[in-house]
Order: sequence, then structure tokens, then C-alpha cells
Amino acid sequence: MIYEVKVNELAEEFGVHRNTIRNWINSGLLPAQEGPGRRYLIHWEDYKQLCEKYGREPRLIPESAAEEPVVSRTAVPVPAVRLGATAGLLATLPSQIDICQTCGSCAGACPIAGVDALDPRKIVRMAFLGMDEELLASDWPWKCTLCGKCEIVCPMHVEIVQLMHRIRARRDRATVPLPLQKGISTCLQTGNNLGIPREDFVALLQQLGKDLARSVCPGFVTPIDKTGARLLVTVNSKEPFAEPDNLTWWWRIFHAAGESWTISSENWEGVNWGLHAGDDSVMQTLARRMVDNVERLNCTALLLPECGHAYYATRYALERWFPAILQRLKIYSVFDLLLEYFNQGRIRVRPVSDKTVVTLHDSCNYGRKSLKTFGHGFFAEARTLVHSCCTKYVELVPDREENYCCGAGGGGWTSPFTAERVYHGRIKARQIRESGARLVVTSCQTCRDQLAQSLCREFNLNITVCYLWELVADCLVPTEQEQP
Ligand code: SF4
Ligand code: SF4
Repeated sequence: MIYEVKVNELAEEFGVHRNTIRNWINSGLLPAQEGPGRRYLIHWEDYKQLCEKYGREPRLIPESAAEEPVVSRTAVPVPAVRLGATAGLLATLPSQIDICQTCGSCAGACPIAGVDALDPRKIVRMAFLGMDEELLASDWPWKCTLCGKCEIVCPMHVEIVQLMHRIRARRDRATVPLPLQKGISTCLQTGNNLGIPREDFVALLQQLGKDLARSVCPGFVTPIDKTGARLLVTVNSKEPFAEPDNLTWWWRIFHAAGESWTISSENWEGVNWGLHAGDDSVMQTLARRMVDNVERLNCTALLLPECGHAYYATRYALERWFPAILQRLKIYSVFDLLLEYFNQGRIRVRPVSDKTVVTLHDSCNYGRKSLKTFGHGFFAEARTLVHSCCTKYVELVPDREENYCCGAGGGGWTSPFTAERVYHGRIKARQIRESGARLVVTSCQTCRDQLAQSLCREFNLNITVCYLWELVADCLVPTEQEQP
């Protein structure tokens, strides 16, 4: 378990000067990481050891401390403004701000309210008052994960996420967080966020296909640039770059289902960081590339990667700028496609061990945000699929539309605000711990990275995290051709 503390609070607790605490931290006697709002993040075990060394009873206790809301003491100078200055850059839509009642429900629901003085109610108010300059200069819109938790409690339906997007969009491009800028410019130049050359990508896909043919899918050949295939599959560049074997989970499912599919050798990136950066022209360009691939390869269906952001951003961009192609192109989320295979009897699964307690983390983009934007959130589908593969299942509380963000959404995983990302994730970590689950299934690559690579370590979670399609691939009953 991890806690946030202030140096002066620790100094008072141990009866020493503030500089002594800083010396302990600098020398490593008290391992601590600098956190937001001039605070430090320390692990419970390290804090406890220090208490034992100095013969003190721990003041922080695991159950209660994580629940304490952090309220930043950092004062933000608010210049005097004249009421009614609502013609500002950001205050153009009444549905976003004018109707706010300043009730504070949004701030109460926001997992990161209080950190570095971030407060959705204040941000709405500042926009209403025309304080555009101050909002555009702040880092709040990048620390907000665009999770939409604040919106579902707002009695006036103020569109807070839209406002955050609008602030991101109006920021000088040179001040957009660097990893986002780099990913976007690399994608525009090379066709994927990580700049993987075409020949390396093709060679990797071919080799993975040969390995798969030798192991569990006899006769398998990776269908690259196959004209006339039904389904065009897009890829999150993180997979070929860092975890190439993950690609083959999908391929095993396609093989079992007898799918006609293909991958493009160019412009195959399925993630659209134009949304995170608030850059419509980038979003549109990347979506157009996808449309071009669909037309070049004459496909009739498109599978977006198992990533909440990728699904939300691409579907939004296609509906907004390329509605004509949707007359003849079916867009599949991972849920749609897997359920179709199940319902048509094209794949069968055998459940994992009944001793493993399993839970599901709902992605904000597939759930709450898709419900609002597209009129449908993938709550029931995810549960149907997980129940097919697992017998011992528990829900996180709260879940579905009210679920908490993992803390890494909205570009948070790649942004420089690491301490804020970890702090945001503390509620998710607590939900998982309280559920007693040992296997957490998620249908989003960012959520999976945050859970498996960050929250597990930061909050000592004794869990395994897997993707939905990984779970289904692992539970697949081999087809007749695949039987040994
Ligand atoms: S919940 Fe809605 S009405 Fe209440 S303060 Fe927030 S934005 Fe305003
Ligand atoms: S979208 Fe999420 S992180 Fe951003 S202000 Fe609302 S609740 Fe907070």
C-alpha cells in the first residue's frame, strides 16, 4: 500500500526537524518518491520499518489512509474578473458551463480532485468567467484522464470532458506533453506511433505466423495485404514493438473461427493519439488512412484493437468525418466479434480453473464514454464473455457505468505526470484488493499496462492481469484440425 505524506507532518510525528526527514529521504533511509503537491509517496512497509526503528506506533494504517481525500494546500492565484465574461474562447457552449450550479458533485466524484489544485467545479467556473488564459496555462487537462466520472454525477449534465478536450485542443502545440507530440509526429511520418519500419513489421508478422503454424495452428500463414478478405485487423503498435506474441492470441481465435482476415503492411496503427492531443486534423488524417486501407484491400469489416481509446477515437472519427463508408463497413469492437463467434458456434471455450477468483475492470472508453457518445456501453458483453471462461466471478464495487478509471486514461500512461497517474489509480487498486480477485480481466491495453506494470507494484497487488482476448484464446477448445 502506498501513502502520500508531507515532510512537515512526518517531522512532527517523529519529533525531528523537516530537514532530517529530507535527509532520510535523500539518503534512502526512508525510500520515497516525490508526488504531486509537494508531497511524497511512501510504501507502508518502509514507513512501518521506520516506526519500528524509532519505537513509534504507526500513525498511518492501511485501511483508512488510502481513503483520505488529498486536498492540495497549494494556493492558485485567481485574479479578479468581472462576472458575465462568458464570451471567452472556452465558454462557447452553454451545455458545458453556463448551467453549472457549483454543487461540487463533480469534484466529489473525481479521483484526482485536490491534487495540484485540480477541481472540475473550479475549471468549469473559470471557463464560465472567461479565464481562458489561466486554464490554457495549467496542466490540469493533462492530469485529468477524461474518464467522465464527474459527468455522470452532475445534476445539470455539464459536459466537463468536452471542456477538458477543448482546453487541450486550444493549447499551443509546442506545449502538448512531449511523448504525445512525438508519437503523433512519428505516426504521421511512418504510419505507426513507434516508427516500426514496414519491412521489420512484415518480417515479424511472417515469423510469428510460421511459429504459430508449427505450434497450435497447422497450415497457418499470416494474411498480410490480402485483397478481398472480409475483416481488416488494426494493431496497437505496442504489441509488435514490445509484446509481439500477444498478436497471436487473436490469430488463434481467427484460425479457430475460420475467419477471412488481413493486416495491412502500412498505416496499420489502430491507436489515434489525435484525440488525446485534442488535434482534430490528426484524428481525421489517421482515420482517413484506415479508410484508405479498407478501400485498397476491399474489406467489408474493420476490427479495432482491444483498447478502449483506440475503439472510441476511431469510431468517433469515422462517424464524424467518414459517415459514407459506414454504409458498407461494419466496425467491430473486440466484444462484438468474440460474441459473434460464440453465437454462431464458430469457437468454443473450456473454463479456467474454478479455484481462481476472477473480476473484470470496465474500461471508461468502452463503457461510460461509449454509452454517452454512441448510445451503447459494452458492459453486458464483457460479462457474458468472461462468464463463458470463468466459473468463480466477483464484481468490483462500483462497476459498469460508475466504475473508476484505472488512472492512466486520456494519454495518462504516456504523459509525464507519473505521480498523479499512480495516485489516481489508488481507488482502482483498492477496489481490486477488496474484491479478493486474483485474476483481473480487462479489454484495454492502457488499463492492462497500468494495472499490471504500475498498480501491482505500487500497491502490492497479488494479481494477474489479462486481456479479454487472451483469456478467450487460452480457453479455446481446439478444432478438429488442431487436435494432436
Ligand atoms: S456537478 Fe455539475 S453543476 Fe455541480 S459543480 Fe460540477 S459541473 Fe457544476
Ligand atoms: S474526467 Fe475524470 S479525471 Fe477528469 S475531471 Fe472528470 S472525474 Fe476528474
